Amino acid sequence: MDLHDFLRRIPKVELHVHLEGSVKASTFVELARKHGVKLPPHDKPEDLYDYPDIYRFLQIYDLVARAVRDRDDFRRITYETLQEAAEHNVRYREMFWSPKVHMDLGVPYDTAIDGIRDGIRDAERDYGIRCKMIAGINRMEPPEKGFEMVKTVIENPRDELIGIGMDYAEADNPPEKFWKAYRLAAQHGLHLTAHASEDAPPRNVETCLDLLGCERIDHGYHVIEDEALTRRCAEEGVVFTVCPISTAWVYFGNNLANHPIKEMARRGLKIMVNCDDPPMFKTNPTKEYIVMAEYMGFSPADFREFVLNGIDGSWLDDPTKRRWRREWAWEIDKLMAQLEKEAG
Ligand SMILES: [Zn+2]
Repeated sequence: MDLHDFLRRIPKVELHVHLEGSVKASTFVELARKHGVKLPPHDKPEDLYDYPDIYRFLQIYDLVARAVRDRDDFRRITYETLQEAAEHNVRYREMFWSPKVHMDLGVPYDTAIDGIRDGIRDAERDYGIRCKMIAGINRMEPPEKGFEMVKTVIENPRDELIGIGMDYAEADNPPEKFWKAYRLAAQHGLHLTAHASEDAPPRNVETCLDLLGCERIDHGYHVIEDEALTRRCAEEGVVFTVCPISTAWVYFGNNLANHPIKEMARRGLKIMVNCDDPPMFKTNPTKEYIVMAEYMGFSPADFREFVLNGIDGSWLDDPTKRRWRREWAWEIDKLMAQLEKEAG
């Protein structure tokens, strides 16, 4: 066993993956054909996921959302991404999706969430992987739209939908815009998270924690620009869901060695590892760990800690968290011992 095998074999939790960003290129092409969605010229499906810049990425992301329309489409894309995750030993995922994007395209909320539910159940039956969903607010829209989305989620409860998040362009769309939507969600027992300080000052992390009541932070890279806030987050054990490959590409000049993730961990922040939009950034759950080992110098013991941080940051019940922490730590220790023996 070498380091790559080790990183593939360790059990994983993921808390930051977007369903619409997880559609395989070949599935995207098939669904686009099925629903008459016109695609840009391409030789093979994967070419569609080659973009020169973020604008083209967003354009393709929008086309993917347009290509997913009926219940079976949602079942299929959910099943396929969970199947892939299970191959990388992801055992539990909390996954974002954007209900409003589909509703605005004429897809009823029920159709989408029930298809997703079918996919989750089929994947658990076939691969043992578990998954829960987080409904994402599009922060580029007016606050009323976010509030309405939360109302829709509350009026159509499903066991698989356990929280809300907030994504899309952060600049000019600070989290305080959506305080009412978050308050409503909290009143109805939904869990809370948000993309924050991914591309904006550290203040957004503070707003998410103190005003919106977020239980964890997605990305949060700019938090390290505020020393006091960084210390506070480290002391309180706030979990940050980091995504090395996608954000290196979009924000940090594709320079993984200089990605703030390295500094976040050095300052004692509780980070855990995710693949964000795997096929769209040509990544997968294991590859994120590999680049962190290769470009940021993290060790097997660091990854052990990141995995356990993922359990802590999840919205599983406490007895399950305690049990998984114990069992997974033991399992990873065994793999570490094997890795050391074979290396040395
Ligand atoms: Zn994200």
